Parts: sequence; structure tokens; C-alpha cells
Amino acid sequence: MTSDAPITQDVLTIPRKAPEGDRKNLVGLTREQLREALIAAGTPEKQARMRSGQVWQWIYHWGVRDFDAMTNLAKAYRALLAENFVIEIPEVIRRLVSEDGTRKYLVRIAGGHEVEVVYIPEEGRGTLCISSQVGCTLTCSFCHTGTQKLVRNLTSAEVVGQIMVARDDLEEWPVPGAPKDETRLLSNIVLMGMGEPLYNFENVRDAMKIAMDPEGISLSRRRITLSTSGVVPEIARTAEEIGCLLAISFHATTDEVRDVLVPINKRFNIETLVAALRDYPRLTNSERITFEYVMLDGVNDTDEDARRLLKLIEGIPAKINLIPFNEWPGSPYRRSSNNRIRAFANIIYQAGYASPIRKTRGDDIMAACGQLKSDTERQRKSKRQIEEEAGLR
Ligand code: SAH
Ligand code: SF4
Repeated sequence: MTSDAPITQDVLTIPRKAPEGDRKNLVGLTREQLREALIAAGTPEKQARMRSGQVWQWIYHWGVRDFDAMTNLAKAYRALLAENFVIEIPEVIRRLVSEDGTRKYLVRIAGGHEVEVVYIPEEGRGTLCISSQVGCTLTCSFCHTGTQKLVRNLTSAEVVGQIMVARDDLEEWPVPGAPKDETRLLSNIVLMGMGEPLYNFENVRDAMKIAMDPEGISLSRRRITLSTSGVVPEIARTAEEIGCLLAISFHATTDEVRDVLVPINKRFNIETLVAALRDYPRLTNSERITFEYVMLDGVNDTDEDARRLLKLIEGIPAKINLIPFNEWPGSPYRRSSNNRIRAFANIIYQAGYASPIRKTRGDDIMAACGQLKSDTERQRKSKRQIEEEAGLR
């Protein structure tokens, strides 16, 4: 036999491989689910815990996507894994880097849907903003995502996969043998992209558990912030089952205004919401809740509003994050003036709260919620329009 030999091997392995679509993705499985999957594929039960621990480390600690690179596993076992499984994360289809270092990825997930992921570098740390749904079923009147129809919930693989996409791009997986680097480019996660994370509770929880696992990506629960519009029944559950920090899209100080801005308020009003929030820091034994407050000109931005806000949250360990409204084409609101935002911030600051005004980062790449995606859609639409006008369609 000469150089034809490898073909024999191909003939042996290829027919045993499950078709592409039938192979299960290992990304996004909890430790227990991973163990069960390995057993189902023929791993002896006695070995399953050890094997799943090894595979877990390869995937989440070393960032390996190829079973052949899992060198502490026997060759035959690696082949078994490759026959039954894939290690798959979303595909980056567009990547933009802003002058200020902000990176924005548009990633494609199964079904051809697209979601966005934004990385914001800061002094000594970096925050990744990830999405939990394609679109959103809620219809907050100032939010562009709210105007898109919900297509679907992201799977846990797609949620944790966004973190893996960013680690790939930042080249932040550890290098075997290299000294351990404690400073992290990607040190914090915020669930503030598209979608309402508490309407996709289990997948978000499983993905965050994976991100927090000490034998993997290993982010502390205090470096993960989940933002919700106020799905009250899931708030205590978030404390118990995830334990991360909480941000709340508060945005208004009367039910009348909040009913319009954040319509879920009609189901869970300010009083009910605040009551649920009061318990959160105790349940998670953690610091402060972030109150997000988007500054809308003439809608929610008076001194009176600032004082009402303080009254409402009295006694809750809180940080108030003022967000200058990001206008989008056709948005029914305007951003409050800088003077107005400063005056509002000052009242809050005087009362002893930290009240950072969120900087608009990555403006040149449209890093705001929902905007890259809609920009791509706009580009497509205008291409179609151009084609129509040219008589090509
Ligand atoms: N659905 C969740 C998380 C995603 S939105 C939630 O509503 O909390 C993340 C934050 O961005 C929320 O506080 C949301 O109210 C805010 N936001 C949405 N659209 C915005 C816009 N156009 N300008 C400024 N903030 C916006
Ligand atoms: Fe959905 Fe949050 Fe936008 Fe409201 S603000 S529509 S909950 S993504």
C-alpha cells in the first residue's frame, strides 16, 4: 500500500458519522446534560463524570472546537465524540470596530436569524452586551427591538456562544503553558442586548451557569448583570437560580407614564415591581440593583420625576444609570438635552446615589440596542429598492 492508505480510513469513519444535522451540539449543555449525552453516545457510566469534566474543560477553559485537539482523550474516544457531537457557536457575519475600541458583531444563528453582540472595552476591564432573544415580544415604545416581531428565543448554546465568539475575536482563550493572565479583556457580561431575558429564563440561566463555572469561562456572578423590563414573577427566581446582579428598566415614575413606555407595567405595576426588587439584594446577598432610566425629552425627565424616583426606591441599595435616549429612524421620542440630563443627575447625586450617565460608546458603529441589525436590514431593503427601480426584480 502506498499513499492511498488514508482513503481506507475515510471509508471506515464516514459512514459511522451521524449526518451533520443529527450530531448534537455540546455547547450550551449543563454539566449534567453533558454527562448524560456522553453516556447516550456510549461512554461507560463509570467514566462519564471524568470524561464530561475533561470535555467541559476543553470547550470552556481552552476554547477548543475540534475533538482531535482534546489530547488527554484516547484517539478512539475522540472519534466517538466526533461521530456523535459538534461544538458549535454562532457564526460572525459582520464585525465592526469603533475608533474607541468598541466592537460590534452581528452573528447568525440557526434559521438564518441574526443577533447582535457588543464588546465595550474599559480601563482594566471589558463588558460584553449579549442578546437573549431574536426580537422581543414586549413593545416598549422607545425601544427599536420592540418594533421587531419576535422570531424566537435563543438556545442556551446561542447565549453562551456569544461570549465564546467574543473570546475568539479578543483571542482570550488561555494558551497552554503560558503564565496565567489575571487581567481580562472580557470581564463582565450584561444581558442588555435584544430580547427580554426573563422570557427565556431556562436557557439564559443555563448559559449563565456555564459562564460562571470555575472550570471554564469562570466569570463571577457579580460580573454578570441581567436587565429586565420587570417580569416580576421571575425576579425571585433569578436571585435563587442565577444569583447574578440585576438591572431594571425603570424609565418612569408614575404608572401612567410607565404603562406607555414599558407596557409590561400594565401587568406588574411600579408598586408590585418595587416590592419584588426590595427582596433581591437580600436573596442574592449582593450589592446594588441598577435602575436604568432612559432620558426622554419632555416625557420622564423633570426634576419632579427625579424626586419621585428617589422616593420610590428609598431603602433599596441602588445605582441609577441614566441613559441618553438613542434615537432611531421613526422613533417617537427625542433625547433630553444635556443640561436636562445633568440637572436630573444632580438631584440623584445630591441624594447620595451614584448616577452615572451612560456614555454613548461606539457611536460610529451604531453600538446602540437594535441598531446594527436594523442598519443591515435597511441596507438590504435599499438594495432591493434599487433593484426594483432598476427593473431587476
Ligand atoms: N429587555 C431587557 C434587556 C434589553 S434592553 C430590558 O428591557 O431591560 C437594555 C436596555 O436598553 C434597557 O434598559 C432598555 O430600556 C434600553 N433601551 C432600549 N432601547 C433604547 C434606546 N433607543 N435608547 C436608550 N436605551 C434603550
Ligand atoms: Fe423588549 Fe427590553 Fe426593548 Fe422593552 S426595552 S421592547 S423589554 S428589549
